[in-house]
Amino acid sequence: MLNKVKIMEASIEKWEKIMAGRRSDSGVVDCPPCRIYYMLACIGCPIAWYTGKKFCRGTPYPAWHHHQIQAHDKLLKKVYCDECLTLAKEMRDFMVEIRDVLKAEQDGGKDDTRGKNKPHG
Ligand SMILES: [Zn+2]
Repeated sequence: MLNKVKIMEASIEKWEKIMAGRRSDSGVVDCPPCRIYYMLACIGCPIAWYTGKKFCRGTPYPAWHHHQIQAHDKLLKKVYCDECLTLAKEMRDFMVEIRDVLKAEQDGGKDDTRGKNKPHG
């Protein structure tokens, strides 16, 4: 079984590197969940599951993508200005949010607050 928490963690790492200016974004090509799910039209993707929408609608991604094209229009989508950094951070935070929800489910969490303040068990 695919570990969706791990996939989201890979995605968080990607956006953190983008925020640090250490890499660019190539969308579907280098998005960890897309690499697994996009070919299936996003079926089973944790992001699509979370938003209830496919192709990353309902996430901060369209705003990032739009800003990259409108403001920079460069081959590489990466952090060029403060707005880029804000949008990349929103995307990273959204990935963290999904990871945390998945993690709570995986831990058998019927109680959402579980595990935040106390160790397992
Ligand atoms: Zn920018």
